[in-house]
Amino acid sequence: MEKCKRCLLRECSKEDIYEDIITRIEKLPEKDKADNDLYNSRIEICRKCEQLLSGVCQKCGCYIEFRAAFKSQHCPLTKANKKW
Ligand code: SF4
Repeated sequence: MEKCKRCLLRECSKEDIYEDIITRIEKLPEKDKADNDLYNSRIEICRKCEQLLSGVCQKCGCYIEFRAAFKSQHCPLTKANKKW
């Protein structure tokens, strides 16, 4: 089934959103992707962060599982989270 490209979040299930994020991560060029160790360490930092709410960083508004997949991205609180 063709996915709707212009649905609002309220029209999507959580599963659809997660699947879309995973697909987008898989399609990133390898040169732009954070390696697994970096990715996982970032996720663990976010898990302990008070800015994380339902998968979204309240500082930058990003889904952290997507943002963390980009090698060049950084936590908006970089000074506090030097590994990110
Ligand atoms: S990106 Fe930084 S500020 Fe946002 S949830 Fe992760 S650790 Fe917290």
